[in-house]
Amino acid sequence: MKVCCIGAGYVGGPTCAVMALKCPDIVITLVDKSSERIAQWNSDKLPIYEPGLDEVVKKCRNVNLFFSTDIETAIKEADLIFISVNTPTKTCGNGKGRAADLKYVESAARMIAEIAQSNKIVVEKSTVPVRAAESIMHILRANQKPGIHYDILSNPEFLAEGTAINDLLNADRVLIGGEETPEGHQAVEKLSWIYEHWIPKQNILTTNTWSSELSKLAANAFLAQRISSINSLSAVCEATGADVSEVARAVGLDSRIGSKFLQASVGFGGSCFQKDILNLIYICENLNLPEVAAYWQQVIDMNEYQKRRFSQKIIESLFNTVSDKRIAILGFAFKKNTGDTRETAAITVCQTLLEEGAALDIYDPKVEPEQIIDDLTHPSVTESPEKVKKAVQIHSDPYSAVRATHALVICTEWDEFVDLDFERIYKSMMKPAYIFDGRKILDHERLQQIGFHVQTIGKKYQR
Ligand code: NAD
Repeated sequence: MKVCCIGAGYVGGPTCAVMALKCPDIVITLVDKSSERIAQWNSDKLPIYEPGLDEVVKKCRNVNLFFSTDIETAIKEADLIFISVNTPTKTCGNGKGRAADLKYVESAARMIAEIAQSNKIVVEKSTVPVRAAESIMHILRANQKPGIHYDILSNPEFLAEGTAINDLLNADRVLIGGEETPEGHQAVEKLSWIYEHWIPKQNILTTNTWSSELSKLAANAFLAQRISSINSLSAVCEATGADVSEVARAVGLDSRIGSKFLQASVGFGGSCFQKDILNLIYICENLNLPEVAAYWQQVIDMNEYQKRRFSQKIIESLFNTVSDKRIAILGFAFKKNTGDTRETAAITVCQTLLEEGAALDIYDPKVEPEQIIDDLTHPSVTESPEKVKKAVQIHSDPYSAVRATHALVICTEWDEFVDLDFERIYKSMMKPAYIFDGRKILDHERLQQIGFHVQTIGKKYQR
């Protein structure tokens, strides 16, 4: 079997790498319209950082895994084509709704329709609104050449960045949605056969297409909802003297609830949670279900509130002004073990501090300095990019970032931050020295003994 995947990003790359590793009898070609991205996939410095990915790619590259910009040949030769392109959020005409922008999915479908000369199974890997498969089928059938048959499957990806390889190798479940016709069942079986190379059959769940599409949005909405729920309680904890870590532990030990995704923090980020919930909200509004839309909107609103609340707490603690103060930001990625900054909470924190006149010293072990500057000078973040550039310094080690700063803010839970030499850091900072732990990863008691003023999420501050 020959497989092609359109879109060599955070999903397409790791997914195809693991598939190639586990399916030596399948030839996989990963294509992208970005020649720069493909060149990186073919080089020693892959375009994304993901633990374990380098090893898998090195093992399979040019054996049964190929990275190419020759989209035409890859589509022509493939029996099965994954569409794994980005599905960003767009603001709709009336400026109110924010829907999934399917222009890249549409363009991939049009390419397939134009190029295909034989039967194809087309698989939605991208996260899409419910019934997007209908639009893809519409495009394919409207341009269908005689004698060519298309099947459309939904096969959403549940991997999380930072643990993608492990998630792909040991997936809780693989979900495949297809048409309830004999051809549809056959197509589902063919895709299922690929996954059965390494996923136990009982973990491969098949549903109708719409259930599969909605399940992906629902899964992300549930995960984000848990974070917003515990974050909402973190505000109650700070006001009352309860400790959110203790509350989360007590709540999570209930086997009906479980302990995962109950870690209070500065707020969730990443390219998916907010986008997919907005997508769900838009669908609900269009289905005339305003109460359901309002329910899920609260998850996003709570996340925004948490990011603002944390940023405000920093300002208030620093005698209500950060103007002309230097503040160290440790961590800029939206979570540890990735270099991805899409929707990272660090942007809101930095933006708020910069607007109040602070100078920032930023360190992240995996995010490229240009990426940080791009994010902080984006028109949606500032109207004064030159001013921001002057106020921001990017560092290649954490000790240089914290030197002569008034405060240190943890925005990402990188393991290396836990083991920093905080006595050395304390000596090099201005006094009083403040730490704001937005990820609750540090040993606060020890830091207080050293002399720091420590503030975190979900615990009342005691001077
Ligand atoms: P990405 O932006 O990293 O990668 C998408 C790639 O598609 C880009 O390299 C882009 O150049 C390419 N592309 C777009 N249109 C193309 C076209 N017509 N032809 C060829 N290449 C094209 O995006 P991603 O993070 O990999 O996400 C892809 C999809 O998977 C999205 O729908 C996303 O919601 C979903 N998803 C993402 C994650 C995640 O953690 N990032 C997890 C699960 C699902």
